[in-house]
Amino acid sequence: MVPSKPSAPPFRALIIEDDDLQRDASIAAVRSCGAILARDAASGREAMAAIVAESMPFDVIICDLKLPGMDGLELLRRAGDTGCRSAFILASSFEPSVLRAAEEMARGYGLRVVGAVEKPVTARKLWPLILRLQAQDLAEVQERTDRMMPASEVRRGIEQRQLDVFVQPKVNLQTGAFAGVEALMRWRHPKRGLLNPATFIPVMEEEGLIAQATLMLVEATIFECVRWRKQGLAIPTSINLSAHLLSDTALPDRIGALLADVGLEPQLFTIEVTETATMTDVAQSLETLARFRMKGFGLSIDDYGTGFACMKQLTRIPFTEMKIDRIFVTGSAGQKVLTDLLETSLDLARRLALTSVAEGIETREDWQTLADLGCDLGQGYFIAPPMPLASLPDWHRQWSAEDRRVSPR
Ligand code: C2E
Ligand code: CA
Repeated sequence: MVPSKPSAPPFRALIIEDDDLQRDASIAAVRSCGAILARDAASGREAMAAIVAESMPFDVIICDLKLPGMDGLELLRRAGDTGCRSAFILASSFEPSVLRAAEEMARGYGLRVVGAVEKPVTARKLWPLILRLQAQDLAEVQERTDRMMPASEVRRGIEQRQLDVFVQPKVNLQTGAFAGVEALMRWRHPKRGLLNPATFIPVMEEEGLIAQATLMLVEATIFECVRWRKQGLAIPTSINLSAHLLSDTALPDRIGALLADVGLEPQLFTIEVTETATMTDVAQSLETLARFRMKGFGLSIDDYGTGFACMKQLTRIPFTEMKIDRIFVTGSAGQKVLTDLLETSLDLARRLALTSVAEGIETREDWQTLADLGCDLGQGYFIAPPMPLASLPDWHRQWSAEDRRVSPR
């Protein structure tokens, strides 16, 4: 039974429906479920324009599958391409198997799908899905806050130098040869043990502590690079920079000076930034990135495919590497949607002369799929999990001794 006054928080909805009567029914239904804004579009094209124009994503998009011109399936694909974060409810009079396939396809394109309803859309049919969506949102927020460490503890952790650096190897997917490492921050918490970045990096960013923490990581990594060099190893190393640091245009000079002090070349280092990081404070970010590049550092676009990268973004920033997000890589073998997306990304990387790196190689099949698609380098649990800096030389010896210089066919 739909309550007359819904207790669910208000939400913003977009209804995509070409039939006037059906559209009015859907608008009435979302309103009685608590929508404070109910925009509507009569075609796929009109809907895409509304999705792209909205600065705050719609909470819910109710999408008819059968539309004139650009149909519902094409619309879902295009919405996926833009990185749309809205939750989708599919509406149709097609049989359940078609709806299930459309749901699966939309998820494959990276969209969040709450479920499907049969037309006509009524409040009674919509209500359980709106509740499910809001329960999912709440659980997600709860999980995020549960996981996050308190700011005062993070501050203390930095002061007491409890931060540590782990590295994860990257290898050439065609030959198996070791190709470098990514440095990843860890916190050795005295009571909770080893903590992953998801529990403290967002806190550092919010509290203005990320610059200090990053410099500590860079210094510790450089120190280790010097030791590796003494053992005859010149290991290409990647470092993650958060968006907050890109507005500091003096950072390339500072890191460059640290390297010069110990006689290491910037060419050995790659700076990883996410797609969205490059979109805030555009002019300053561009200056910082250009300065890094001019000093000889490599520049990598991290988690490629999950943000809002556009051609402009890729061409105006002097990237040298594209890191493909693991959501496209892990389990991609035989998944046509994923392999098509991978093929497109790798083709773009080749055209822009970027080194391609696949994250999340978890199985032999993942490796083989990416190697067959021509990806240059791979990183993931199948190769090695992140490990303490000091463990790398041993891992390296073992990896080389096992003679994996052939793809693991
Ligand atoms: P990222 O840059 O995408 O780093 C890769 C993450 O994937 C790492 O998680 C790594 O442990 C994990 N991973 C590696 N191989 C696999 C695999 O085969 N399967 C799966 N499921 N996961 C794999 P980690 O170390 O927890 O880091 C999470 C994120 O934290 C990083 O994502 C990066 O965005 C951020 N981060 C880490 N260190 C730093 C840092 O020093 N500064 C900043 N700003 N961010 C950092
Ligand atoms: Ca990274």
